[in-house]
Amino acid sequence: MDLHNLQIDARFSLILEVFVATIFKSSNENSNQKSVRRILVAGGAGFLGSHLCERLLNEGHSVICVDNFSTGRMENLHQLLSSDTFSFVRHDIIEPLDLPVDEIYNLACPASPPHYQADPVHTMKTNVIGSLNLLELASRYQARIFQASTSEVYGDPHVHPQPESYWGNVNSFGPRSCYDEGKRSAETLFYDFHKQHGVDIRIVRIFNTYGPRMRPDDGRVVSNFIVQALKGEDITVYGDGSQTRSFCYVDDLIEGFHRLMYCPQAIHTPVNIGNPGEFTVGALAEQIIDMTGSRSKIVHHSLPVDDPRQRRPDITAAKQELGWEPTIALADGLKSTIAYFEGQLTKPTGKLAEAA
Ligand code: NAD
Ligand code: UDP
Repeated sequence: MDLHNLQIDARFSLILEVFVATIFKSSNENSNQKSVRRILVAGGAGFLGSHLCERLLNEGHSVICVDNFSTGRMENLHQLLSSDTFSFVRHDIIEPLDLPVDEIYNLACPASPPHYQADPVHTMKTNVIGSLNLLELASRYQARIFQASTSEVYGDPHVHPQPESYWGNVNSFGPRSCYDEGKRSAETLFYDFHKQHGVDIRIVRIFNTYGPRMRPDDGRVVSNFIVQALKGEDITVYGDGSQTRSFCYVDDLIEGFHRLMYCPQAIHTPVNIGNPGEFTVGALAEQIIDMTGSRSKIVHHSLPVDDPRQRRPDITAAKQELGWEPTIALADGLKSTIAYFEGQLTKPTGKLAEAA
């Protein structure tokens, strides 16, 4: 049996439970550390999930990545596969699963608008049924569970910057709704499992994050602009480019996850994690052209339906409760991200990396 590529469905969950328990038992015995925890990362083959798995493995924990590889890639896991305490299961969280775990991180969900809108029903199922399945697992094993929520719960905000107390301005009936309302429903399920079943929850509302291991065809603004600039293609600014976003580098975000998950004072309410530096999309395009030395031209495409006009996190809570604030400036984060995409473009195949 290939330890690193196990496909399961609900019928095999018992076998899987025994199998994974064996992996965890042996890894715990090997490491001989009482503090080693068994941690499930749903969506661990994705951009953020792979960085999180790496961080948890580096701390000596046993990590099992559960992913359906819809937007995740095997190449994001390559460095992790050599670790004895890492394994992955190809599984869609809309199906139940049963693994004995101490902690769960739920990052499973396509995050880029073109990807989450490609199969909106499945996106909704992932957020609602998938979250329900993981919450039931957390309840069964008294595992702490972390939810990757999003600034999209604020929709096209009327309050700026956005504090956690803002209820948002979200369209329930449009192309972004499967994601925005799906994530809002997931937050509600987390609240309900905490209140009704005493599940130990953590919820982070992530603002636009970028960095190495994004897919070249991810479709989000930072990856699109860098890939277009490096290939000398037109830079596609949607609308007039005056809409704003606040961009957080992945390392800062993962540190924020860590501080929230392991904060001595349990925080059971959502916390914004993001970089409050706010930039127009037009300014981002100019900066990337400048940093890559590209001769690409900016072209304007129509603004997608319900595209939020502005977004910036109020991170007062993260600062006060977690002692967290971002440390990596946009120019520095872009430098590392550009270097990563240059590597992707110059792979031996001569083509941009495709999904695994
Ligand atoms: P990503 O698309 O790179 O990663 C998502 C991962 O989840 C992929 O590996 C994908 O294959 C997996 N997945 C999707 N549906 C699944 C399912 N039904 N079952 C199992 N696996 C599934 O996106 P990302 O940027 O790494 O985002 C990770 C999480 O963080 C997502 O939940 C996203 O909503 C949230 N988030 C990200 C950002 C950001 O800026 N990166 C912002 C807000 C929220
Ligand atoms: N955007 C753009 N060109 C692109 C991709 C995105 O102008 O090639 C814009 C998009 O319309 C939005 C912003 O960049 O205003 C951020 O888009 P992204 O998809 O990265 O994230 P989200 O809209 O979910 O915040």
